[in-house]
Amino acid sequence: MRARILLLTTGGTIASLPTEEGLAPGLDGEELARMLPQGILEHYDVTVRDILHLDSSNIQPEEWQTIARHVFDNRTEYDGIVITHGTDTMAYTASVLSFMLRGIAIPVVLTGAQLPMAHPLSDGMENLRTALAMAASGAAGVFLAFDRKVMLGCRAVKIRTTDFDAFESVNWPLAASVDGKGLQLHPEAIPRQTGECALRDRLCDKVFLIKLTPGLDPEIFDMLLQMHYRGIVIEAFGAGGLHFVRRDLIAKLQAAARAGITVVVCSQCLYEPSDFSVYEVGQKALEQGVIQGRDMTTEAAVTKLMWALGQTDDTEIVRDYMERSLAGEMA
Ligand code: ASP
Repeated sequence: MRARILLLTTGGTIASLPTEEGLAPGLDGEELARMLPQGILEHYDVTVRDILHLDSSNIQPEEWQTIARHVFDNRTEYDGIVITHGTDTMAYTASVLSFMLRGIAIPVVLTGAQLPMAHPLSDGMENLRTALAMAASGAAGVFLAFDRKVMLGCRAVKIRTTDFDAFESVNWPLAASVDGKGLQLHPEAIPRQTGECALRDRLCDKVFLIKLTPGLDPEIFDMLLQMHYRGIVIEAFGAGGLHFVRRDLIAKLQAAARAGITVVVCSQCLYEPSDFSVYEVGQKALEQGVIQGRDMTTEAAVTKLMWALGQTDDTEIVRDYMERSLAGEMA
């Protein structure tokens, strides 16, 4: 029997056409599906639904909720779901869906393209092919398929602006890859989905990401407090350090903790875990109760914090969520 696949389209380059103001989403899902070779459509039983029509720069928490709801509502009707999406924020969407749809029993695979499907050299066809194969594989979870690679959604990072090899699975092996034997699943890299899948789609959008620069003015924290931010992710230096000489960020972390703000610290280095216990400049931050992001990507840290703060007001429960792996985002 052919695998039943739901193809949800949201826009992005894959569906874009040239306009006077630059590339903009133009193709609808049916048009996109018509571009797939007959052989593919004979292989899978594909149902297409347009849910959004956006460049992914305009995909925000409200759209994440729309996408999550469509996946959740259709999860028992299909063997797998493919979501076409712009590449620019796809890693954020893939990450947040991993938390919102924890326990999902089918594959949910995001994909897109660097060149519009309407372009004769588009990579969209190849990416869709990989995504469809993954969606039909029975491997449960949220994934991102690109350039013949499939990665956990919560480990994906967009690392190149134009190359077809645009995404990387950071600090975690690929979930699957395509070679001469077809789609090769790597089960050891796919965490088991346990428990009932519930739609946990509440999010807190008052989460701010700070990329530390040498000499950053600590008063930025006062501003965030005044703006009622509830969570801050700091991309700190190297293995884990923040400045406190002359411009004392540590004192501000103390003020943030007193105000009930959850602070997560990770590294601006893309690869390998951070560990703030190594240096004095990190230990002082830990003393203020900040949570370590360890090997999480920035995309995962930000979306997980938005999700955790959306689930509860209890900072201890938020800490518990942040300190353990929920979807494979932490080793
Ligand atoms: N700007 C596009 C988007 O993210 C880029 C892409 O899809 O590759 O929607």
